[in-house]
Amino acid sequence: MDKQCTYCCGLFWFGNKSSAGRDTKSSSKPGIVKRISKEHLLSFTAEENDKATKNGVESQTPAQINLYSLPYKANVGSHGPVLVLPFLRAGVKETRHEFQSNDSDGSKMVNEYVQKCKIGTGSTGKVVLYQSKKDEKLYAIKILHKPRLTKLRVSPTETAMMDVLREIAIMKRLDHPNVVKLYEVIDDPESERLYMVMEYAEGNWIFEGSGPPGGIGEAVAREYFRDVVAGLSYLHNHNVVHGDIKPENLLISGDGSIKICDFGCSRMFEGENDELRRSPGTPVYTAPECCSGSHYSGRTADIWALGCTLYCMVMGRYPFLGDTFPSVFEKIVKQPLFIPEGTDPDLADLLRGLLCKDPRKRMPVEAVATHPWLSRGFGQVQAPSYKAAY
Ligand code: ADP
Ligand code: MG
Repeated sequence: MDKQCTYCCGLFWFGNKSSAGRDTKSSSKPGIVKRISKEHLLSFTAEENDKATKNGVESQTPAQINLYSLPYKANVGSHGPVLVLPFLRAGVKETRHEFQSNDSDGSKMVNEYVQKCKIGTGSTGKVVLYQSKKDEKLYAIKILHKPRLTKLRVSPTETAMMDVLREIAIMKRLDHPNVVKLYEVIDDPESERLYMVMEYAEGNWIFEGSGPPGGIGEAVAREYFRDVVAGLSYLHNHNVVHGDIKPENLLISGDGSIKICDFGCSRMFEGENDELRRSPGTPVYTAPECCSGSHYSGRTADIWALGCTLYCMVMGRYPFLGDTFPSVFEKIVKQPLFIPEGTDPDLADLLRGLLCKDPRKRMPVEAVATHPWLSRGFGQVQAPSYKAAY
């Protein structure tokens, strides 16, 4: 059955991709992996996903990681006044023992979780779908190899393991409908592995730089973008800078809402001061001020990446693209933003505000949340009116 449809906008089902990150059967256009409608996504079951994986259809693999999706570490140096505060959000379970077994069907288990299939590969570890024997719910578990990450240096003073611990510390504090929740951390001192048990979001929008002309359509883009803005606004209000906003880190949950994931590049700040130096995001989403290596505001850089993400959604291509890192960075810094003729004036205004090269004049998240393009047909995005209590 051909599951592609014109409405669907690049919603992608994880288990249906070749190692190159493309649909194995039906996709004729480069960059458009097998796409399914939102309605179909809602009815798609993990069993179908699992079956496809068992049939040899591989999920996301490192082959998909390329210049445009690879988070990189640059501008090594001071990281500003980053704080790793005590964990406050109640409800994140910390488990200090890991027990590996098999269930009656022979499927591998870790504690009460039964392994289903791999759903993602990231820079630090793989993400695997598990089902809990306790509540029957599906969970996405990020599995990390502690010795490898402890050896891996990301800067002269930091290891990849420190980034992971920071990711966990930040995720433990977050509780918002548009942000992926962390439920449990399994960290047995006797084991080489560490497990991050997260809320499972079954959809992902794969953008490989050559999406359909006109992107995913303004109406769908608006719906998704509102969720992203709500989530990002929550993060910024809680003094968290995401650091790697891009389509791959925006998941689509069963109810069709967007969940921001991947806090591996995130930082938490005290108050308004969010000055950063090391720019760990993804090249094509990097803000102009980060290309130079000088200090920059983390929140403002997130807004630029948000602008790139919206541009990808509505234009179907990256705003600034080159063949090498230096040529990408040169275009980001120097090339004027191209807005095609006939673009909705409100949308053009929003894109210019987000992708403003001068960070001091770039639109703050509060202005994005109340922008007319976003509000059309929906009203303003509900941004949290409170500030973090810590
Ligand atoms: P990395 O920091 O290495 O990029 P991510 O946290 O982004 O790791 O995870 C890698 C991929 O795994 C994501 O792009 C996504 O495809 C998948 N993934 C991560 N978290 C979840 C989740 N909660 N639900 C479903 N898939 C997920
Ligand atoms: Mg990621």
